[in-house]
Amino acid sequence: PQPWDELLAVSTPQLSFQAVFNHAAATRRGGERRPGGALACFAGGAMADDLFELSDEAIVTRFAADLISLYPQLEGKLDEGAVRRHRRVVPFWAPGRRASLPVLRNPLGPIHLAGDYQLDMPSLADAASSGENAGKAVLASMGR
Ligand SMILES: Cc1cc2nc3c(=O)[nH]c(=O)nc-3n(C[C@H](O)[C@H](O)[C@H](O)COP(=O)(O)OP(=O)(O)OC[C@H]3O[C@@H](n4cnc5c(N)ncnc54)[C@H](O)[C@@H]3O)c2cc1C
Repeated sequence: PQPWDELLAVSTPQLSFQAVFNHAAATRRGGERRPGGALACFAGGAMADDLFELSDEAIVTRFAADLISLYPQLEGKLDEGAVRRHRRVVPFWAPGRRASLPVLRNPLGPIHLAGDYQLDMPSLADAASSGENAGKAVLASMGR
């Protein structure tokens, strides 16, 4: 057993990433612990912008060192790291630009847009709700 087994997310201020996610925590809860798994280290915002300047290898080296500083038990146990770079992937509005949202929420004839930007908090839940809302609106516009 390891200290992160039951933790889905750990906030990591002062490190080169802002949070570690242990997605397997949800399946491990109360169940048998099996070897393996992945810890996902997330960096976003200005911190991620700075990391974009580095090679994958340099990012893995930096993240691995910080991860081990958090959980020394991982020393010598980390596999090869995998880096995923996403530039500007979460909806972002410059100050005042969110005013364009009502336009995006209006249907274009029979076309109803859907996406995480449509509701309050960009997330999977809002993306799914917005898709459901759009689907229902399309059905209603077809008289169904
Ligand atoms: C690293 C990361 C971690 C996240 N973690 C969480 C989390 O823990 N919990 C949570 O709730 N949310 C999380 N999110 C946010 C969540 O993933 C998104 O809000 C959600 O996936 C958005 O869904 P969507 O359908 O609106 O857009 P997307 O999933 O981005 O789908 C848009 C699709 O449109 C396609 N597309 C774009 N342009 C075109 C084009 N011109 N023609 C055709 N296709 C096009 C894209 O390829 C993509 O497949 C995270 C996001 C990121 C990036």
